[in-house]
Amino acid sequence: MSIRPENAHQAHLLRLLRDNGPISRAELGDAVHLSRSKLAVELDRLTENGLVEGAGLAASRGGRRSSIVQLSSGLRFLGVDIGATSVDVAVTDGELRVLSQASEQVEVRRGPETVLAVVLDLIAKLRAEGFAQEVHGAGVGVPGPVSFRDGVPVAPPIMPGWDRFPVRSVLSQHLGCPVVVDNDVNIMALGEMHAGLARTVEDFLFVKIGTGVGCGIVVDGSVYRGVSGSAGDIGHIRVDDDGPVCACGNIGCLEAYFSGAALARDATEAARSGRSGDLADRLAESDSVTAVDVGAAAAAGDPVAVEMVRDGGRRLGFLLAGLVSFFNPGMVVIGGGVAAGLGHPLLAELRSVVYRRSLPLATGNLPLVLSEMGEAAGVVGAARLVSDSLFRTG
Ligand SMILES: [Zn+2]
Repeated sequence: MSIRPENAHQAHLLRLLRDNGPISRAELGDAVHLSRSKLAVELDRLTENGLVEGAGLAASRGGRRSSIVQLSSGLRFLGVDIGATSVDVAVTDGELRVLSQASEQVEVRRGPETVLAVVLDLIAKLRAEGFAQEVHGAGVGVPGPVSFRDGVPVAPPIMPGWDRFPVRSVLSQHLGCPVVVDNDVNIMALGEMHAGLARTVEDFLFVKIGTGVGCGIVVDGSVYRGVSGSAGDIGHIRVDDDGPVCACGNIGCLEAYFSGAALARDATEAARSGRSGDLADRLAESDSVTAVDVGAAAAAGDPVAVEMVRDGGRRLGFLLAGLVSFFNPGMVVIGGGVAAGLGHPLLAELRSVVYRRSLPLATGNLPLVLSEMGEAAGVVGAARLVSDSLFRTG
């Protein structure tokens, strides 16, 4: 079943119903500036095509009660979030509420055949549970640069074997529905815009701190990808000419100083050398220490871990202050697994640097906040990505 709208009015109606839920015909008519009769024609067509359905009567505004419409309860989207070390898949309804979700640990560096087989297994599992029998579109996020137009990763540093692999066409063939591919940071930004703290703003930055660091740029309610799709790749901005070598091969990138990978490296060194007793204990307990251990050690007052969080926050903060001055966002949302693990000490450092170094006009009303969506941002954003591409014309 194709769920593409026939004209721009229908596309607008579908997006309104997706973002606002059930709504009366009267309110819908006001929102899209259509006369009652023209609105009825478009809604009839959408109903015939299985996209919209009735949902009872609205409370009276005086006079005849207006009927309520909603997106068809049979609409289903898949959100797929491929991370560096795990895959999350979710089925959503038309309003992008997660109906069911499945995850599995798999290293993205094992290559596209292995990882996409895991994705298809997880989808089959959701189908077996009675979800996603019919799917109308799938959005996919991958942890590296993507040519959005071609639906392929391009020279992704932590994804060996994925360069130019046709992710979109392979999955589309297997699933029998339209597929859209983007990088993981952009889909998380879309998730925050749809269901997170950024719901209230049209222009914002979403900074993901995971194994790497990246930034989603949302302008006027749409992701800005740049000319070739690499906009927001802030992890590879050089912050020091004499710095360590980065996974990308360059020297002194932000990621080489502050990221999940860099924190794990520094924490291991601090544990082995005995500089941090707390981290040494954690290393002895579990054979490895990660960014999450740094967060826990810092929360427990370990001075070495506290300094690692401060130093990382300071370096990212310097960079963010520049971005805030340049872009003048309405909000900055910090997310990703490492950000969640470091929590408020990181946020405090970022706020202190950004508010001190950017102009008052840019920061006067600027909320700098931690994401409240966690892992859900990726899958919800991936579903939003494909619904955006379907609920438009041309
Ligand atoms: Zn780099």
